[in-house]
Amino acid sequence: MQNELIFNEPDGLLRMLIAEGRARVLMCRTTRLTQQAADIHAASDVATAAMGRLLAGSALLAGSVEDEGGHVTVTVAGNGVGGKMTVVGHDNGDFKIAVENPQAELPVRPDGKQDVAGFVGREGRLTVIRDKGEREPYIGISNLVSGELGLDFAEYFTMSEQTPSLVALGCLNQDGVVLSAGGILIQAMPGCGLDVIEELEKREPFFRGISRELYDRPMRGLAEFWFQGMDLEIVSEEPLRLRCDCSRQRMARALGALGREELLDMAREGKDTEMTCHFCRTAHRFSAEEILLIADGQEIS
Ligand SMILES: [Zn+2]
Repeated sequence: MQNELIFNEPDGLLRMLIAEGRARVLMCRTTRLTQQAADIHAASDVATAAMGRLLAGSALLAGSVEDEGGHVTVTVAGNGVGGKMTVVGHDNGDFKIAVENPQAELPVRPDGKQDVAGFVGREGRLTVIRDKGEREPYIGISNLVSGELGLDFAEYFTMSEQTPSLVALGCLNQDGVVLSAGGILIQAMPGCGLDVIEELEKREPFFRGISRELYDRPMRGLAEFWFQGMDLEIVSEEPLRLRCDCSRQRMARALGALGREELLDMAREGKDTEMTCHFCRTAHRFSAEEILLIADGQEIS
């Protein structure tokens, strides 16, 4: 279900440079990803707001990795009602998200915004695993500082990756409809002077309302307005999608990890076994005969 009021720009990631390359800017729109994720997980409004921000933060983080290949896993484990949240992003723009308690609800805050920090939790950890498939994965961890996610991602970039960063994330949603979601990441590059930092600080109030700004304007138009006089250079624009890469084969391999004895016990019961993907909620069903094959280490088609 798409609300026809939603601005029609597709989801994507826009990479830019400003101030002759002394700072880089990434902006993303994740409106449809968030709507699809909310529908898949039958999410409450506060869960949807948290997912919208986390998907945007993860897209910016995945986009900030220079080298090609592999995937990024972002886990937010806080003490809020929503429980653990996980996003996996691939460098082809495919993202998926799982949330422990997507139907948990919280009252709207007095200022009318969703209580994202109550959902995520103000204490906990943000963990990033960058896996390129060959070498040992890179793992970075930082503590949550607010639970609103924007500041938490800024803390991660600044503390774990030692890159001073400004992050704003937002999701505008109500009654199951996502009107707008996205975010912006600004990072100082080597040689970035105080003059550039001061210019960016002056413009910072613009970024705070990013979900509302993205509601009715394209990303390029916003960037041209926000960074006028700062030598804006568009580097590239790439699409983003919500897509799960699970399959029966992959689920069978996960079942195989239970061990032969456990699988033989399951097969003896003679019932079908159902494995539901945490990311896309697809139920993969295996018969007792198939469980026996898995116990014998055979591939399932
Ligand atoms: Zn799946």
